[in-house]
Parts: sequence; structure tokens; C-alpha cells
Amino acid sequence: MSKVKAKYDVIVIGSGPSAYTCAIRCAQLGLKVLCVDNTDINSTSGAFCNAGNVGMITLLESAKLYDTLLSDIDSHGVFAENVSLNLPKMILHKDKILDGISQQITKTFTEHKIDFINSNAKLIAPKIIELSSLHSPSQQIHAKFIILATESIPISIPCTPIDNEFILDSTAALSLNKLPKRLAILGAGVIGLELAAIWNRLGAETTLLEAQETFLGLSDNQISRQAYQIFTEQGLELRLGARVISTKILNKKVFIEYQDADGTHALRVDKLIVASGRKPNSERLSAPEANLLLDENGYVHVNENCRTNLPGVYAIGDLTLHGPMLSHKGMAEGVFVAEQIAGVIGSSVNYNIIPNVIYTEPEIAWIGQTEQALKAIGDPINIGTFPLSINHQPKSAVKSNGMIKVIACANTDKILGVHIIGCHASELIAQAVLAMEFSASSEDLARTIHSHPSSAEALREAALAIKNKGLNS
Ligand code: AMP
Repeated sequence: MSKVKAKYDVIVIGSGPSAYTCAIRCAQLGLKVLCVDNTDINSTSGAFCNAGNVGMITLLESAKLYDTLLSDIDSHGVFAENVSLNLPKMILHKDKILDGISQQITKTFTEHKIDFINSNAKLIAPKIIELSSLHSPSQQIHAKFIILATESIPISIPCTPIDNEFILDSTAALSLNKLPKRLAILGAGVIGLELAAIWNRLGAETTLLEAQETFLGLSDNQISRQAYQIFTEQGLELRLGARVISTKILNKKVFIEYQDADGTHALRVDKLIVASGRKPNSERLSAPEANLLLDENGYVHVNENCRTNLPGVYAIGDLTLHGPMLSHKGMAEGVFVAEQIAGVIGSSVNYNIIPNVIYTEPEIAWIGQTEQALKAIGDPINIGTFPLSINHQPKSAVKSNGMIKVIACANTDKILGVHIIGCHASELIAQAVLAMEFSASSEDLARTIHSHPSSAEALREAALAIKNKGLNS
């Protein structure tokens, strides 16, 4: 094993959104940075390509376009004839977008003189990592600081062995070259619903099998109920309380067995996508002798400054239990850690104000607390809602539905939560995030003049509704 002289201030392990954001910020602050990832920088599924769920969103945009041309455009006086689907081209478009992002990040790395090594990296002691790859002998590299940012990987279930031909993981599910006639998705969580929004729209008969009895349990209940209704009306078959127990491939079909309250059932489909959740990607991240503290589920133990139990070793993003598994949370931590290391006074991560988004159509987005959580702790609250079917009529190409809900403290009027299901919810939530970051009251929001007509003014309407001053509801 060859030993390399310490020439880096920082080594970042990983190349996802948290990792590259952290590497770039470290370099901007004058630190010499090495980024190591076991995926190749030049492959389409490689380093930097896992830029959040850009692939998912790109495909959903294409699917929405197709769906709109097929069903909703006539009422505008626009007639599109002979609309057809070229799925390989659609996938290629998605890959090109990912490739473009990857190239952009590679360029930024070069400009900031950030080194990149395509290799497995393992923490063997504070300040030392070991690199191992098929192509070169193992070597050790030293740095003053090491940042663990290997994000998360799909949870595998023994009864659904992934072959990426008939039983697919969520990455392979974004590269299908032929439309399955019948599709099943295991798990109606965030990823399962996002994938269903794409494939159902493109024409696959889609069934979601979800082990939990409740639908979208983390969201506000009122929003989950609307989501259930809207998705069902769109043709999604949502089976709750349905736990997949076995699968079999026979004559190029997937035979699924699942159990619900009524007993055991069978389902035959062309493809099964497994979207059973994600776990921290920490299995081969550190050698036992490094003594990195992990919990029983593989999450890396960190304090409020993202420091692990080892001096100079930090962990960010999906690897830790702090905050949700979302790219923007990890990216904020990446900046926070870089600024700590460089000795710059930066802002810490406000874990109470991190927007959650589900990229379905309509989108679901929320910030802060849900009505059920606030009621459970007995906090007095006021609620204002506004239906988006009123607001979107002039601006949206397609008939829109959904709602916005603002929850404020009954005593202080401070906004405690905002919940949206609707077109562009991922954009609309930004003004709620800003309002909450500045500890705004619902009255602040209600008094803010918004442009008309716009989607954004619907949030103001929901805030106005708190004091029954709604103008359009
Ligand atoms: P998420 O973590 O949001 O991606 O959601 C993953 C979903 O998969 C959860 O709601 C789980 O209940 C669901 N799930 C996990 N295992 C099974 C199974 N064997 N059958 C059906 N659903 C499952």
C-alpha cells in the first residue's frame, strides 16, 4: 500500500448534492479539496448525476407535456393530431439534462481546482482515508478534515430481488425504454408516488401497493386526503394496507403476492418498481477500527454542528438523522460545515424550516407543522384555506385543483405551518419558507400585495381566510 503525503485540507467522500456543495464552498473559502466517489465522473449515471431528483422531475415534465397534448389542450383551441410517444427519446432528453448538470459541476470543480478521484473511500482513522479501486493499488490519503457525504441508498426487500429487468429499483425506473402495459409500485411514499405520476401519465396501468393503512402519514391530513382523491381520479390504483410478501418471474411477467386485511391476493404485472424507502449509505464507509459512531439503522451520529464523534470528521445530508432526506437540507449542511472549517461566521441550519416537496402532479409541498401535530400537543391555532381551482383558472394550461392551507398560532398569529397541494407547489412554498424564516404572522402575509393574476396570490388568500377576510373564496 502506498502512502500519499497530506496535501489536502479537506476530503469530501461522496459526489451528491451535499458533497459537491460542500466541496465548492470549501474551495471558495481557500481550502484545498479532494472529492472521492466510487462512480465515474464521465458516466451518465455517475458522479454529480444524482443531482437531487432532477431525473425524476425532468421525466415528469415530459410526461405532463404528453398528457396535456393528449387530453387537455383542445379547450384552448389548440389541436394536436397524431400525438405519439417516443420513450427512448424522452429518456435520452432526461439523460442529457443530467449530463448537463454533471458537466456544469465538473467545470466548477476545475475552476476551483478541486481534485476528483473515482474510487471507493473508507475512513480508517480521523484524518485518514483509504482509497481502493479495481484499477490501482490501495493508498492512504491524509487531510485535516474529512466530510462524509455518501447520502442514501434504496432499502432492499428480500422478497423483491432487483434484477432491473422485471423488478426495478427507483433509478432503473427512470430509464425504461418500453412502456409497461401493467405496472406495480411497491410503496406509496414520496418516491413511489413520484414514479407513479410519470408512468401513469405516460399510459401504464399503475397500481401502488402500500403496507401502511394511512396515506402520506407525514403530510397534513387534509392535504393527504385531497391527494388520495386527486391521484385516484387520475387513474392511480392505490391499495393501502397491502404488504408485498412474495414475487415470482414467469413468462416475462411479475407475479406479486400481497397481504391486506382481507387475506392474500395476487397481482400480475409487466414490471414491478420497488420504492420501499431509503437508508443511509454508511455500510462500507468506515473501518471498524476508526470507531465512527453509527446508530442501529446506520445513521452517522452527529452533534448540532454536523461533527461526528471523531475529531475533524463531519457527516452531512442523508447520512444523518438531522432533518429530512432532502437534497436542499444536505446542501445547507454542506455550506454550514465548510464555513465552520474555514473559520467563517456562517449561519447554522434551521431544521424547523426546511421545505418538503413531493414532485407529483399536482405537487405537494409543506413547511412547518401539520394541523394534526399541533392539535395533538393542544396548541391553539387558526386555520385559513384557499382552493386552487379558483385561482389557477386564467394562468394554467390545464384544469388545476388542490388547496393551500395556512396555520397560525391563535395567540400570536405567528405562522406555524403552510401546506399546499397544487400546480407549482414547490415554487409557491418558497414564499411561505421566507415568511417563516422571518417569523411572519398570517397578517403580514395577508397584507403583502401580490401580483394578479398569479399563483402566488393564492397563499395570500389562504392567509386572509384566517380572519375571514378572503376576497375570492
Ligand atoms: P418512502 O420512505 O417515503 O419512500 O416510502 C416507502 C414506503 O414503502 C413506505 O410507506 C413503506 O410503508 C412502504 N413499504 C415498505 N415495504 C413494503 C412492502 N413489503 N409492501 C408494501 N409497501 C412497503
